[in-house]
Amino acid sequence: MLSMTGTRAAAENTDPANIFGMDESRFVNLASEMSLKPFQGREIYRWIYRKRNVDPGSWTSLPASFRKRFAARYSLELPKVASVLESRDGTKKFLLLLRDGLSVEAVYIPQNGRVTLCLSTQVGCPVRCAFCLTGKMGFTRNLTPGEIVGQPFVLERECGLDDNSYNVVFMGMGEPLLNLENLKPALGIMTDPDGLGISRRRITVSTIGVRKGLEEYLAVPGMPQLAISLHSASEETRKKLIPAAKELPLKDLRGFLQDASRKNRERISLEYVMLDGINCEPEDARQLARFCSGLKVKVNLIPFNPHPYVDFKKPTQRKAIAFQDILAEMRISSTIRQSRGSDISAACGQLAVFHKGKQR
Ligand code: SAH
Ligand code: SF4
Repeated sequence: MLSMTGTRAAAENTDPANIFGMDESRFVNLASEMSLKPFQGREIYRWIYRKRNVDPGSWTSLPASFRKRFAARYSLELPKVASVLESRDGTKKFLLLLRDGLSVEAVYIPQNGRVTLCLSTQVGCPVRCAFCLTGKMGFTRNLTPGEIVGQPFVLERECGLDDNSYNVVFMGMGEPLLNLENLKPALGIMTDPDGLGISRRRITVSTIGVRKGLEEYLAVPGMPQLAISLHSASEETRKKLIPAAKELPLKDLRGFLQDASRKNRERISLEYVMLDGINCEPEDARQLARFCSGLKVKVNLIPFNPHPYVDFKKPTQRKAIAFQDILAEMRISSTIRQSRGSDISAACGQLAVFHKGKQR
């Protein structure tokens, strides 16, 4: 990986400023700074995001002299595809190179005629859940709005997606609610009909549940649906699996779930990574069902996807089904997630890029 030497950093300061990821109001300001009308600022915004066109030379509705000045002053840089791995099941894992030489992964998942893009919000993750490979790489930095919006932008192009009717899950690298500052503007551009135009209903933000982040997220009307990574309805086990869970006891998390249910018509997903011998015995299922009772939720059971950095094991199929049966008997609906792309380490919790100098 590139390291940022003093010379390189200085050289980058003279580069045109990368403004991919800026929102509409900032393009309006930029237009007025460059002696254009506000509506022309909105036009730039639409050229970039709605028309997926980052070549100012071809923005024919804007004056040629402006386009030249714009190109000299600003750049519109997308993450670069450093490598692509394709699974037997059609899943593709993209390694995306960022401007400072770091990289993140994003995954294209085709299934039953529908496409889901799994996107990242941070380089690494500070939460360090006991079973997750991303957690093992530690945390380097938050992604910028442009690096978040850049992922579906690049994957659409690379995978030949010719409309925006795919699903998006923020289940890649990072804890989205620890980067709400950049996720919020990114979601704004992604869901705006004049931006990428992805329906809010097709987007899911997965989180372990961070108090401040949940408060802020739920205070904004019209945000996409949340999925909460629960993994255990026992306080003690949950804290062992998710160290950060000690800041938000299950009782308080439940309060947030009630609040979120009131604000959203759809059921909220509770994700539950199944770890043999840890959280998938019949009593665990009963405890989970008791936690869910009275909440508008569905449970997404995710058999653990193995990787070489931890010793956890997934339960047998039989055990997973027995767990699901107990939930069903207690009237809690659930699905067992089929692992996709595990042969290329693209399944849940298998994403990681070990940057030079970072701990394994
Ligand atoms: N940080 C967020 C989103 C990214 S992880 C979160 O934790 O919710 C997305 C999902 O993958 C989470 O539910 C997470 O618990 C799960 N996951 C992590 N490692 C896994 C593994 N090895 N096998 C199966 N699921 C895993
Ligand atoms: Fe971070 Fe999610 Fe992995 Fe936990 S499971 S370490 S929160 S990415």
